[in-house]
Amino acid sequence: MVVKPKVRGFICTTAHPEGCKALVKSQIDYVKAQSHAEGFKKVLVVGASMGYGLASRITAAYSFGAATLGVIFDKPANGARTASAGWYNTAAFEEFAHADGLYTRTVNGDAYSKEIKDKVIEIIKNDLGKVDLVVYSLAAPRRTMADGTVYSSVLKTVGKAYTNKTIDLKNNTVSDITVEPATEEEIQATVKVMGGEDWQDWINALKAADVIEENAVTVAYSYIGPEITHPMYADGSIGKAKDHLFETAKAMTNADDGIKAYISVNKALVTQSSAAIPIVPLYISILYKVMKEQGVHEGCIEQMCRLFNTKLTKNSVETDEPCRIRMDDWEMAESVQSAVDTLWSEIKTDNLDSHADLDGYHEDFYKLFGFGAEGVDYESDVEIDVKVDC
Ligand code: NAD
Repeated sequence: MVVKPKVRGFICTTAHPEGCKALVKSQIDYVKAQSHAEGFKKVLVVGASMGYGLASRITAAYSFGAATLGVIFDKPANGARTASAGWYNTAAFEEFAHADGLYTRTVNGDAYSKEIKDKVIEIIKNDLGKVDLVVYSLAAPRRTMADGTVYSSVLKTVGKAYTNKTIDLKNNTVSDITVEPATEEEIQATVKVMGGEDWQDWINALKAADVIEENAVTVAYSYIGPEITHPMYADGSIGKAKDHLFETAKAMTNADDGIKAYISVNKALVTQSSAAIPIVPLYISILYKVMKEQGVHEGCIEQMCRLFNTKLTKNSVETDEPCRIRMDDWEMAESVQSAVDTLWSEIKTDNLDSHADLDGYHEDFYKLFGFGAEGVDYESDVEIDVKVDC
């Protein structure tokens, strides 16, 4: 069928298989063209189908020739309904990796569950022996516990309400938004979903099954950002979860069993999860403009390729004082942030075009779902029922 984008709120309910494939291919081509450090060889990526997790998987495979095992939570096509973008991304990645002689396996299901952890452990035992890198890149709205309790994460402030500018991407208008504070219960639930507990569960399960190398590394992703986003992000409910993630990393490293856990603070980018955060999309579209003008803009693949080839390699790790890897170094540079500040203070609906890279924002948003890839004929019929071996 001919697949067109159908946008509902912050997501697109359709995905284009050929577009996703072309975009995965361009990420692979990017990685192949870079120079490569000595890297990890057997890599588990939890949250491997989109955004930073997908880019981590592609980097491991194509920088280091690593065997990759990905955990995804995606839907295949169903009748006239397309599969999720992550499904098509994974199908494409597997097709390219197999053709290039790389080991790849995917497990589709809820990464929070014991069942999926057990399945992954079984595959590692049978196929890989032990993994030497675990990337934890989940961005999930909820977590279901073993007893059926469901925790939902919220994107709210902590303490008091915060008002600042935001953009309505449906009609490209700037207005003020007030984000209300989360209740204590909502904060705790957000920590349950996006904090470090499940990451720790993964590492404990891998250790107990003896399927993780003694000197293995594990990394999870975080964000800090500039002050205008702090009440909403770093100091908000999601920030509390990220604090917990960081404390978990410290506790895992301090456990002194040889496994080192790191937080990589990544750049703000358009992904399915960041699109839903109030205020942040307007900041991102200004950031894109400034970073593109200064020649320092990166997407997920550039970030992850730089991470695993320069800052977190098999032999060296570069961290800041509290021991975080700073992939937001270029975003947070004074030259970038002072330009963003000026544009932020002036921006309104009338000057959006001159003050923000809205085209770049929309382009990246559609690309998340496989739309807007070069060389793809979006008027042609495509087979939407694509297989993933999982
Ligand atoms: P994303 O939405 O693009 O990807 C999230 C991935 O998690 C997807 O592959 C999704 O299928 C998977 N997932 C969600 N729930 C799952 C479940 N229950 N079981 C298995 N897989 C599941 O998100 P992203 O932006 O790449 O975020 C990844 C991490 O990077 C998050 O921790 C996020 O906070 C962090 N981060 C994002 C940004 C940004 O601007 N996007 C910046 C810095 C850090």
